[in-house]
Amino acid sequence: MNEESSAFAQYPARAVVDLSAIADNLAVLKQSAPTAIQMAVVKADAYGHGILPVAMTALEAGASWLGVAQLGEALTLRYALDEAGIAREKAPILTWIAPSGADWAQALEADLDLSVSWTWVLAQICAAARETGKKARIHVKIDTGMSRAGSTLADLPALASAVRMARDEGLVEVIGAWSHLSRADDPSDEGNASTASHVHIFEAGCTILAQAGIRPELRHLSATSGILWHPEAHYDMVRAGIGMYGLSPNSAVASASDLGLRPAMTLQAPLTSVKVIEEDTPASYGGTWRSPSRRWVGLVPLGYADGILRAGSNGAPVLVNTDRGPIRTHIVGRVCMDQFIIDLGPASGEAGLPTGRTENAPAQVGDGVILFGDPATGAPLADEWASQAGTINYEIVARLGERIPRLYIGAARREENCS
Ligand SMILES: *Cc1c(COP(=O)(O)O)cnc(C)c1O
Repeated sequence: MNEESSAFAQYPARAVVDLSAIADNLAVLKQSAPTAIQMAVVKADAYGHGILPVAMTALEAGASWLGVAQLGEALTLRYALDEAGIAREKAPILTWIAPSGADWAQALEADLDLSVSWTWVLAQICAAARETGKKARIHVKIDTGMSRAGSTLADLPALASAVRMARDEGLVEVIGAWSHLSRADDPSDEGNASTASHVHIFEAGCTILAQAGIRPELRHLSATSGILWHPEAHYDMVRAGIGMYGLSPNSAVASASDLGLRPAMTLQAPLTSVKVIEEDTPASYGGTWRSPSRRWVGLVPLGYADGILRAGSNGAPVLVNTDRGPIRTHIVGRVCMDQFIIDLGPASGEAGLPTGRTENAPAQVGDGVILFGDPATGAPLADEWASQAGTINYEIVARLGERIPRLYIGAARREENCS
């Protein structure tokens, strides 16, 4: 038994990731930003989809950059790509969280592109460049209105002159100037005014850099919502995250299918129990749900330790695929650490049926339960889980536990594409 099949044997749930959807979604996003280079954002283990398969697929599908938040994941990704035989110059990786005292020398040896928001980061990176003899590739980050990372316009002249000195000393090469939009998914007047202000401040920041003699080749500002809804913010490169995974950055504005995007991940698990409970029987901790009648209930082996948000208790949707066709139903009672219960509908005469195959049960042990996936298959959307749990689809996929085995399909197209 190979490593993969034993993982599935020991752990019944799986997240099936369709890599052809990743490739197709990048092509769809390309239509919205045809002139910009694409960066595939693969932070947080590719939003839970698995960093290496997604990164490889994205590179084959035409993305020419990869982006991650953490330095550690950038290093892991670089070494994995090396192992896979991907030349470093064919797979530039930008990492943007810059903790003081990070191992910048290792970052330079790994040929990572580094974001620089502050002079102290620049000083640390320059020290590493001296030590290793490797020129650092940097992207100067401007705070255009999110107050997260980035140099404010007030601080930028000092940073720009430090960058210029470092460049003139041969310690750094300035590859990019960049920022991030905070309300590009918001179609209200206020949202649009915010994005216009970001663009304005970004332009002002680029002017300050230019006055210091710094004219980076790559200006980049837009993530998925900027790609879809703000062509004025595309610049030279765009950074595709959620849309590449086939989810909408704001499904109240447009659903994934409205946008022509296909969710790449299907989360599924087999039923581990199907049984009858009597009317008015409490289910799960705290008895927050009681059966409104004699009822069939099913048990699903996934819980909050797997990243199934407990806020999805009493309502998050599932699709059960049975011999007699699919059943759309939902969680009843609270999500437990490793399991949750679903309603399978009213039961008539049969009492005390054993778990297992029974004639009258609406579903059988082993039937596949889909938590979310591609709505074209009847599966609930991650967005439905998000609204049930009071969050966004990003959190639904990104929080999925590492222990859920990922199964990759749809790689055939990739082989066709790589000649
Ligand atoms: C997460 C992130 C992205 C991608 O955002 P999406 O909305 O998922 O497309 C792009 N840039 C930065 C800086 C990010 O943190």
